[in-house]
Amino acid sequence: MALVKVSEILRMADEANTSVIAFNCTDYNMIYSVVTVAEELQKPVIIMLYPEHHHLNNAADPAAFAATVKSLAANVKVPIGFHLDHSSDINYIMKAIKAGFTSVMIDGSMLPLEENIVLTKKVVEIAHAFDVDVEAELGRVGFAKDSDQDKLDMYTKPEVAAAFCEETKVDSVAVAIGSAHGVYLETPKLDLERLAAINAATNVPLVLHGGSGIPNDQLEQAFTKGINKFNVGTEFFQLNYDSIKEYCETYKEKGNVFDMPKFVQEKLMAYLRKKMELSKF
Ligand SMILES: [Zn+2]
Repeated sequence: MALVKVSEILRMADEANTSVIAFNCTDYNMIYSVVTVAEELQKPVIIMLYPEHHHLNNAADPAAFAATVKSLAANVKVPIGFHLDHSSDINYIMKAIKAGFTSVMIDGSMLPLEENIVLTKKVVEIAHAFDVDVEAELGRVGFAKDSDQDKLDMYTKPEVAAAFCEETKVDSVAVAIGSAHGVYLETPKLDLERLAAINAATNVPLVLHGGSGIPNDQLEQAFTKGINKFNVGTEFFQLNYDSIKEYCETYKEKGNVFDMPKFVQEKLMAYLRKKMELSKF
């Protein structure tokens, strides 16, 4: 099957009262493992590129990344979504749309509300003209290393979310309800009441960022209270690194670079089989 629109996958998640999991990937092993396990479990999934990994780390650019995702998605029957994570640069978003991303995130959460609305609206107009979905961020999901998940002034306000969605016509919204990006110093506690209030005030699927390290019982509750897309990056990247390290340490000079992909993919797939159980399609 070719790629399926992210808004279509989020609609399926909403109907099943669950969340799809969106995995940040940087390389072939990660993308291959996500697509393969999704097909094995028959659960829709979303693959994401985080622009900084291209800008700062020289990982694949949108066109190279898109070629890999499209090629692998064409071999399976399960719906695969394809999304550009956090971008605040319209030119970069255009590059991603041209490359074949079917969904993009415009992150104006660092801007004052009015400017976030103007920027989001502009991107929605452009992206929708190409039949591409848009995710925005309201409130601000910061960084776990700064304990931003505890800063209540950064949380999304239900009444503001209602007005924001109405005005921007965005397809999904990332909410700040007690999660943060990176490695948590203490176990986070999601504000599930606030989530339920945001869900009642809006009619778009909600997105939870900073998914690495949130206890499963909290996630399961969040998935029934309006979260339909759940982003995972940090723990998946760490596992990729640990698996490469384990291969090198296990085989030392007897190892070779050609045997490494399968070894790493098996580790990644074992993790994904467990993680994707959270997604109750
Ligand atoms: Zn994020």
